[in-house]
Amino acid sequence: MKSFIDVAPDSHFPIQNLPFGVFKPRDIVSRAPRVGVAIGDYVVDLSVLEEKGHFRLPEFKDRQVFSEDSLNAFLALGRPAWRKTREVLQNLLAADTPALRDDSALRSRVFHAQKDVAMQLPARIGDYTDFYSSYHHAHNVGTMLRGPENALMPNWKWLPVAYHGRASSIVVSGADVRRPQGQTKPPDAVEPVFGPSKSFDYELEMAFLIGPGNALGQPVPIGRAVDHIFGMVLMNDWSARDIQAWEYQPLGPFLAKNFCTSISPWVVTLDALEPFRKTLPPQDPEPLPYLRMANDFTIDIHLEAQLQTEKLSEPHVITRTNFQNLYWSISQQLAHHTVNGCNLQPGDLLASGTISGPTEDSRGCMLELTWRGANPLKLPNGEMRKWLEDGDALAITGWCEGEGYRVGFGEVSGRIVPA
Ligand code: CA
Repeated sequence: MKSFIDVAPDSHFPIQNLPFGVFKPRDIVSRAPRVGVAIGDYVVDLSVLEEKGHFRLPEFKDRQVFSEDSLNAFLALGRPAWRKTREVLQNLLAADTPALRDDSALRSRVFHAQKDVAMQLPARIGDYTDFYSSYHHAHNVGTMLRGPENALMPNWKWLPVAYHGRASSIVVSGADVRRPQGQTKPPDAVEPVFGPSKSFDYELEMAFLIGPGNALGQPVPIGRAVDHIFGMVLMNDWSARDIQAWEYQPLGPFLAKNFCTSISPWVVTLDALEPFRKTLPPQDPEPLPYLRMANDFTIDIHLEAQLQTEKLSEPHVITRTNFQNLYWSISQQLAHHTVNGCNLQPGDLLASGTISGPTEDSRGCMLELTWRGANPLKLPNGEMRKWLEDGDALAITGWCEGEGYRVGFGEVSGRIVPA
C-alpha cells in the first residue's frame, strides 16, 4: 500500500496508519476546528471530503460528523463507519487513484501542512479512568511502600485496579504544565506544610478512547469489548509524589494527579494496530470467567520517554518500554469497568497506568527510575535529577514497527513551568 503523498520510512503516519484528530488551521483565524487524519507531514481535512459527498454512506446514518470540533459524533457511529472511512481514505490517498491526486483545486483545500495547524483535544472527554495494570510498576511502587513481601495487594492479580480521574484537566500535547502547590508532610515534620510540589513526576502511559457506549445497568461482555474501543493515544499522567504521599490514604489519588494530564493529539485506530496484536500471555491465577476470553490480545508498541532540560543539547531517552508490559488487556479493563453496570460514553478515556517493564531502563516514571530520589539520574551533560525541575520538558513517543513502515502515535510533550 502506497500513497501519492511522500511519506518518509520512519514517519509515524504512513497510509497504513491514518490516525484521527481535531485541528484548526493557524493561518485563517475564523476557521473552526474540524476533524482530520494525518498522513506524512500533512493533515487531510475530512470536513471538505465530507462536504464533497465522500462519506454519504449507509454507515453514517445521514450524519455529518467531520465539521465538528470533536470526534464524539464519529465515535458514536461505531466500527462499521470507522472501517468505511478508513477504506474510503486509503482508496482516495492511494498512489494509483487519480480523483484527489490530480485535482489540484481540491488538493489545496484538503491538505494542510502539519506545521500550519494547531492540534486540539481529539474528543470531549466526559469521564477519565486510570488503571494500574503494569505488574512491574505496581510491584516496584509496592516494594517502596510496603517491602518486597507485600508489594502487591491481594486483589491485584484478580482485577484491573483503577481510580476515577478528572477529565476537565486533560490537555493536548504541547501545553505547559504548571507545578502544583499543595499540602505535603516531610517525614520528620510534625505538621504538614504548604507550597510547590518538590517531587514532580511523569508517568508514561497509553489510553484508549471509547466509541459507542453501553446503557446504564448493561455490562459489556469481554468478547464485545473491542466494539466499544475506537483507538489509542499516548498519555502523561503528571504526578506530584509528595502531595500524593500525604493525601492518598484511604481513598487514593486526588490533587496529586488532577492538576494536569497530557495526551497526544492523534488517535491511532484499533484497525491500524491490528497487524501488531500479540497473544496476551497466560495469567496466573486464571481470572474469573467475566475477565476471560479466547484470543485475548496485547499490542507490540515500542514506547520511549525523553527528557529535555534547559541545559541538555538534545533530548535524552530515560525510559524504553513496550505496551506488552501490561498484565491486563484493554478488553479486560473495559469488561471490568462495566461489569457492575457502569455506563461508558463516547469520548470517555481509559488509561493503562504507568507502563514499566522488568529492566531498570524500562521504568516509566522518576519515582521508579530514581527509587524515590535515592539514586538520582545522571544526564549526559552531568546534570542530576531526582525529580523533574522547572523548565524541563518531557516527551513520550511510541510506534509499531512494520515491514518498511511504522504505525506511530507522534508524541505527547509538556514543559514544566513554575508554580
Ligand atoms: Ca497513572
